[in-house]
Amino acid sequence: MQRPVPSLDPADWEVFRKQAHGALDGMIDHIRCIRQQPVWRPLPDLVKARLRSQTLPEEGEELAAVLDQFRTNILPYPSGNIHPRFWSWISGSGNPVGMIADMLASGMNSVGLGFDDSSASYVELQVMDWLKELFGFPSEASGLLVSGCSMANLVGLAVARGGMSGHDVRKAGVKGDHEGRLVTYASIETHSSIQRAVELLGLGSHYYRKLPVDDEYEIDLEALERQITSDKAQGLRPALLVGNAGTVNTGAIDPMNALADCAQRHDLWLHVDGAFGAMARLIDGSPRNLSGMTRADSLAFDLHKWLHQPYNVGAVIVRSADLHRQTFSIAPDYLENLGDGVAGGPTNFNSFGVELSRSFIALRIWMSFKTYGVKRFRELVGQNIEQAQYLHKLIDEETALEALAPTNLNVVNFRFDPGGLNDESLDSINREIIVSLQREGIAAPSSTRLGGRLSIRVGITNHRTRYEDLELLITEVLRIGRQVVQQR
Ligand SMILES: *Cc1c(COP(=O)(O)O)cnc(C)c1O
Repeated sequence: MQRPVPSLDPADWEVFRKQAHGALDGMIDHIRCIRQQPVWRPLPDLVKARLRSQTLPEEGEELAAVLDQFRTNILPYPSGNIHPRFWSWISGSGNPVGMIADMLASGMNSVGLGFDDSSASYVELQVMDWLKELFGFPSEASGLLVSGCSMANLVGLAVARGGMSGHDVRKAGVKGDHEGRLVTYASIETHSSIQRAVELLGLGSHYYRKLPVDDEYEIDLEALERQITSDKAQGLRPALLVGNAGTVNTGAIDPMNALADCAQRHDLWLHVDGAFGAMARLIDGSPRNLSGMTRADSLAFDLHKWLHQPYNVGAVIVRSADLHRQTFSIAPDYLENLGDGVAGGPTNFNSFGVELSRSFIALRIWMSFKTYGVKRFRELVGQNIEQAQYLHKLIDEETALEALAPTNLNVVNFRFDPGGLNDESLDSINREIIVSLQREGIAAPSSTRLGGRLSIRVGITNHRTRYEDLELLITEVLRIGRQVVQQR
């Protein structure tokens, strides 16, 4: 019997084909012309209302109409990070090949389990092997693609907790009121996702030591030693040491060899948060402090930041694949690998992390590495580091500008300071400069505070930035700064 049954496929594939090609063309034009667009524009109230005050669409409408709404209300108001002058936080700028890969991956819609015998499982294993090689880890190490570096940090520290507990922490949980509790160490400049992981894993922020930094914003090694000694004396168990390969505030890199030595001396697990800074290992003449990073027990990093993969994807590498598997593996009956057929795949990604169903995130990495070659990504990392040095030099040449931190990697901090104004006024002037730059669509630096002072913070993880974009930033900061001072 033939009767019409509902499905989600188009009634007319040829009409759909036209609409899909139109959507793709629209995105290609959008990316191609991004430099001519404002880096960011505020959402008009009307648009916000259109996006927020719609009723649940019980009945569908034409795809053409929905695409129209996308073009009018959504596409013109992105975060801005694919623009050449977007330098807020640490954000990657994506890449066109990755965009195509995502469309192809969504079309295939593989479930990403690893024990499904699908091309996606093998591509993901291949990509992880490439990443281990790039970051100098042995091929026996284990690794997993995850949603981002927050998740990568959580996974890495979960393995660390299991490895350092001395009992079956999965069964018994974290033990002790105080005596014997595992202590985590990291510098005060460490990303908040580490504290999040410490709290989620039941290690307790009370047992998380945030150590001071030196003038270079690197962890104070003597303070670290003193803290470990004092914790031991209290009967605590120093256990987890987190090193920063690139802090968000200033791009500082903790001295990895010294941290690895310390970890060895005190039997600590060394986890490195290399969200973006780990990429500096890819270039010739990589920063001195990074050497030793490969001695880490676990390394977390992002691919959507300085490797410009579309959001979102990060990865974690763990030296001991056994410990990694022991931390996560659970084998329910319905997920048995039958050794053949669909469920005869090469691994089980869920045995190495939190997520079960996952998109085919490996395809974007596979396709962009193959299309551009890793050499191109190395060049781009090196270019951003050079650009940051160039910007720092421009700042030094202007008497009305003041660098607020040493420039490490790709992060530059400075403020407008024409002289004769107190810190409070300077904070408010510089805040106004940042907001004006953004509202006028000129550039999008972000802000941070260094020694309490508000800083214009420029994090260049952007393959579209040119040297003249940085020159324009300087010109515009001076123009807006002088205007603001005049109006007061
Ligand atoms: C961005 C970042 C994180 C968090 O990564 P997400 O991908 O945003 O989850 C962790 N550490 C550092 C140093 C970062 O820059």
